[in-house]
Amino acid sequence: MTKLLYVPNPLLRQKAEKINIVGHEELKIAKKMKEIMLKAPGVGLAANQIGILKQIVTIFYVDKETKKEIEYNLFNPQIISYSEETIIMEEGCLSIPEQFAEIERPKIIKLQYLDDHNKLIEREVDGVEARILQHEIDHLSGKLFVDYLSHLKRNIMIKKVQKYLKIKNNA
Ligand SMILES: [Zn+2]
Repeated sequence: MTKLLYVPNPLLRQKAEKINIVGHEELKIAKKMKEIMLKAPGVGLAANQIGILKQIVTIFYVDKETKKEIEYNLFNPQIISYSEETIIMEEGCLSIPEQFAEIERPKIIKLQYLDDHNKLIEREVDGVEARILQHEIDHLSGKLFVDYLSHLKRNIMIKKVQKYLKIKNNA
């Protein structure tokens, strides 16, 4: 499967499995994910979102201050610590189109992952990058940003998505 999935697709609610080694197949999936993410366009994508239950995340965004392009893949990403300080930022999701909400999350995270060369990386991340990664890593355990909202708000958003997709598909 290599199409973007939308709520309430059950694959978005499943846990992605750890990969053994970053090999040809995993890099191929990451490449496909990047294509889909850039086309959407989005700033991050988790493999669940294209129906592949493997722990793969890809990220691409331009840092507003440094104008630098931040672009890489993460395999088996794991957050090992969170800052106590939190920050509120607006989030959206390619699997929940046209819906946005302010979500509070830790400001800084420390994470571990395998890179494209199967090397174990440990880094501390702050700002937008930390936000995108927390959102994407949530996807790998079947969690969506709307889960941080009330039941009512979440249901309204999911209904709106269904309406949006109906109109889009009929257009
Ligand atoms: Zn998302």
